[in-house]
Amino acid sequence: MTTTPEITAAGFDTLGLAPPLLKALADVGYETPSPIQAACIPVLLAGHDLLGEAQTGTGKTAAFALPLLQKIDLKRAVPQALILTPTRELAIQVAEALQKYAHHMPGFHVLPIYGGQSMVVQLRALSRGTHVIVGTPGRVMDHLERKSLVLGNLQTLVLDEADEMLRMGFIDDVKWILEHTPAERQTALFSATMPDVIRRVAHEHLREPKEIKIRSATSTVVSTSQSYCQTHTGQKLEALTRILEVEDDFDAAIIFVRTKTATVELADKLEARGYSVAALNGDLTQGLREQVIERLKAGTIDIVVATDVAARGLDVARISHVINYDVPYDTEAYVHRIGRTGRAGRTGRAILFLAPREMYMLKLIERATKQKITALTMPTPGEVANRRVAQFTQQVVDIIKGEKLDFFFDVVRRMEGEQDIAAREIAAALAWLATRERPLQMPGANDHAPRDAAPATHAVSPAPTFERKPDFKARSKPDDGAAEPRRERPARENRGDTPVQPRSFAPGQLARYRIEIGRNQGVLPKEIVGAIANEAGIAGKDIGQINLFDDYSSVELPAALPADLMDILRRIRVRQFALKTRVMAPGEFVDTRPPRKAPPARAGKKPDWKKPAGAKPEWKPKRDR
Ligand code: AMP
Repeated sequence: MTTTPEITAAGFDTLGLAPPLLKALADVGYETPSPIQAACIPVLLAGHDLLGEAQTGTGKTAAFALPLLQKIDLKRAVPQALILTPTRELAIQVAEALQKYAHHMPGFHVLPIYGGQSMVVQLRALSRGTHVIVGTPGRVMDHLERKSLVLGNLQTLVLDEADEMLRMGFIDDVKWILEHTPAERQTALFSATMPDVIRRVAHEHLREPKEIKIRSATSTVVSTSQSYCQTHTGQKLEALTRILEVEDDFDAAIIFVRTKTATVELADKLEARGYSVAALNGDLTQGLREQVIERLKAGTIDIVVATDVAARGLDVARISHVINYDVPYDTEAYVHRIGRTGRAGRTGRAILFLAPREMYMLKLIERATKQKITALTMPTPGEVANRRVAQFTQQVVDIIKGEKLDFFFDVVRRMEGEQDIAAREIAAALAWLATRERPLQMPGANDHAPRDAAPATHAVSPAPTFERKPDFKARSKPDDGAAEPRRERPARENRGDTPVQPRSFAPGQLARYRIEIGRNQGVLPKEIVGAIANEAGIAGKDIGQINLFDDYSSVELPAALPADLMDILRRIRVRQFALKTRVMAPGEFVDTRPPRKAPPARAGKKPDWKKPAGAKPEWKPKRDR
């Protein structure tokens, strides 16, 4: 029999599972069975053998683990179930899943056994007694031969990822184990593909198995542009928030996760990052659910974090983005999900996060949606900062175009006169004020200066400037060179740095300092300038030429810096590397490039750090390093 299950909204309680298991599922926040679970659990509970065609990520572990646990007699600490897996990682993972699902089964024991782990440890653990063994074929065979593992009471045998065991050359061991277990056992075989060899094993060792296969083909043609981002679980949240910042045409998003718990957790995290967001899961009453949808429609929230079931039927035209934060169980679920965007004739955008081991889903989804899914890399902090600066600039431009500003011109003019400060400085302070909640400079990033901020080896200001707007410039007082924006807050709040007081230096001699980061570490001159300016309070105008070498760089800074500043400079980290700044010895510096003109002074600015005209260059180019 071949069953192709439909996604069902029915909860686990309709599948015949015992209360302790249902309780554990509620604890972990599973809302509804995945298709493979809905299909397999009743079959296995009824005692049939099973041949399941399913990949990792479909929820197959719970599909075999829950029925197996239901049959365990906790009073007898003898192996009643054996699960064979191709790798130790999978063995550990499956054992952990069993432990989780058996949380309300007091005294339950599961033991993973695999090659590479000490035999002594395993023998001791086996002698203490266990209900379930999860192991790799070779090591299980060893223990069976030594009689340290006795399977006389075995009720259930699961072969997980059988095609992988075949590929890794374990198939003979698997057959041997099958022959050395009680014939009346129940057997379930799961495999992502069904090559003939696996079918033969199934034919020889399974009794009239029920075949269950997850349908993956669908003919839906979607009008949604699709991308994926490969990321490790630990980086997903960071990737998500950065992507949300740089996405074009963002209006509203629905973010899909697998569990009820995850909807709440992720919504909380996004809220803490300033998003207007709500969780949508099966625990909400119908009234609350409708409220969330109304708020999304009305624009009081922009993001809904939902499970598949809770989002079913959701039709909100302003959803511009569907984010598959957790990968869907199958392509059908994916197509359902992305159907939430691209409504009312608009084009939608779907983004899929995939861990490296989930990458196989990509091909399946491409086939199902008949569309290419393009790769998306996590935007760098610099890109996010650029986007924030661009958005801010646009806001400023719009205000200049659309608002009556006469009163404010007067305010600024008065400030200029009474406080003797330049319009450019006032503008920078106002920009700081306006972006306090959402700083333009990305915390923790050294490459926070806008791209193209300055060419290498030129002194640059790490703070974004808004000089390009011609009207702005025209209205500002001619720059007298003293208008370096004040930095009154740390650029990297996340480090908890205390704000540095900007230092001023008499114009004059610069000295060359060596810092222990260079081209091989991927550093950019603007990162060096940014870090020194922000953390040591040395203004961009007091930072001279920067030369990058393979593993170190030289940077010109005011000569004879005070000891406390040198201490800070030594400890500053750029791209995780401590700069260990020190003055370069005479003759230590070797320029690798052709002689260069002094950096061009910024418009109207006195290049006060420059050496006196006509002074001889201090160094000569010698060789390339
Ligand atoms: P698996 O395919 O067994 O490796 O499972 C993949 C992931 O899906 C694991 O992180 C499980 O915890 C999760 N998972 C399995 N079943 C469900 C479910 N019914 N609801 C939510 N998450 C699930």
